[in-house]
Amino acid sequence: MIQLVLATHNAHKVEELRRILGDALEGFELVGYEGPEPVEDGETFEENALIKARAACAFTGLPALADDSGISVDALDGAPGIHSARYAGTRDDADNVALLLQNLRGQPNRAAHFTCAAALVIPARPGSVGPDAPAEPSREFVELGIWHGTMLHEPTGANGFGYDPIFKPVGLSVSSAELRADEKNAISHRAKAFEAIMPVVRHELEP
Ligand code: IMP
Repeated sequence: MIQLVLATHNAHKVEELRRILGDALEGFELVGYEGPEPVEDGETFEENALIKARAACAFTGLPALADDSGISVDALDGAPGIHSARYAGTRDDADNVALLLQNLRGQPNRAAHFTCAAALVIPARPGSVGPDAPAEPSREFVELGIWHGTMLHEPTGANGFGYDPIFKPVGLSVSSAELRADEKNAISHRAKAFEAIMPVVRHELEP
């Protein structure tokens, strides 16, 4: 089994990722991450996903997967974007949803999208061909997934987390909090990003 650290402390995301990755994880053991959380001071989802994966890789010495995600609302110039988790200052989903609805009051343009960046960081290794072989540097990869939709006027649905109760995916007539986990995981930004990174994981780590 090839060990892979999942660099997130968010229990909802760990559960979603285990379901999304499902069969793609065959041959891999997904290890939880208990180490320090780095400061996410990147300016993009990609940078922040890499910061988290680097921290978990450095702490454990294992290849690490991380994601960074959020919702970007057109009428708010892309806010809350990378600040989605702490938009209202509290990390509380209900507070974030309430603030977003308040900031969109009277706004006819309700277009928005979720973004997820999935990052893989593989630790540096000593050279493999003889004692003088140069060390192999660490390797980093990032893939993006986007999920388009519109912001509803009030929360509806009890599944999912975060902004799911006020996000209506394009082509559907329900909020993403009204989707079953398997329905959301077939089409979400997180599913798209991890479906894109898993072939990279296999290519880079399988013997
Ligand atoms: P992260 O843990 O830094 O990636 O923060 C992600 C934040 O974006 C979450 O706390 C949610 O507020 C929001 N978010 C990301 N993905 C989703 C999703 O699938 N549904 C609802 N909210 C999400």
